[in-house]
Amino acid sequence: MAIRTTLYGYQVKNGKTVVHDEESEVVKEVFSLYVEGNTLNSIASMLTEKKIVYFQDEVKWNKNTINRMLENEKYMGNEIYPMIISTSLFDKAKSIKEKKSCKQEKHSPKVELLRKITICGECGSRYKRVNTWGSREKWMCSKGCNCLKYIDDDTLEKAVTDNFNSGVRNLELFNVIANSQYQPTIEVTKGENELIRLLEQPELDYKTIANGILNIAKIRFDCCKFDSGEITDELKEEICDISVVESIQYNEMKEYIKQVIINSDGSITSVFINNSKITKKGVVENAS
Ligand SMILES: [Zn+2]
Repeated sequence: MAIRTTLYGYQVKNGKTVVHDEESEVVKEVFSLYVEGNTLNSIASMLTEKKIVYFQDEVKWNKNTINRMLENEKYMGNEIYPMIISTSLFDKAKSIKEKKSCKQEKHSPKVELLRKITICGECGSRYKRVNTWGSREKWMCSKGCNCLKYIDDDTLEKAVTDNFNSGVRNLELFNVIANSQYQPTIEVTKGENELIRLLEQPELDYKTIANGILNIAKIRFDCCKFDSGEITDELKEEICDISVVESIQYNEMKEYIKQVIINSDGSITSVFINNSKITKKGVVENAS
């Protein structure tokens, strides 16, 4: 497939780069549309809808093409390229782009991690982070349980930090009641019922029953995913060196916390890697 060798907006005539009338109008339009507040994607689809040809009858506009165009300083003109875009328009587009990328980078790794691990205590769905209020973010249940006023990044992070500090102050909070993490799967229940049926038969087939018992022992063992005692000991050992923190580090969050639950009573629970839970009450006011 042939690719463009001349920058969009220009053509080469008698060995000299000159402005391409129609294409340069498109370039101007792209800059204006962007400065007026349109996104890269929406500009790309506008050009595609208008069937504006990029190269050799091809209509192939996407946000990267638009992005490259907005970043190309040649449009302001130099020894080779005549000017299509004024410096002031170019700079305006540039500063809008910088502001937008700043906003995106504002999501710290901690916020990104919280996005992955935060769930709704009422329905178990993921919590999503939305930006409905312009600059102010809001966390809400993705299934729409909406009993809380609102939670922003700081509130959530502070609760997670406070729960962590509670554990740092009192390592006993990381203790897990023995077997509390044993949750029989459907497979276990099915197997147990099957075994009961076998035992109720008038004539017992000992070999089948023995195999059934061994099988259940195995699947029961499989659903106890780990030895929580060992993990609890390791967790306590690592955390006993940490003093109370002002704000939990990304690494601490990633290493020690596997889930954050936003409960309908306005409390926030951190579930640690050993399944221990520490809850902070009254984090979020109830809306009702
Ligand atoms: Zn929910």
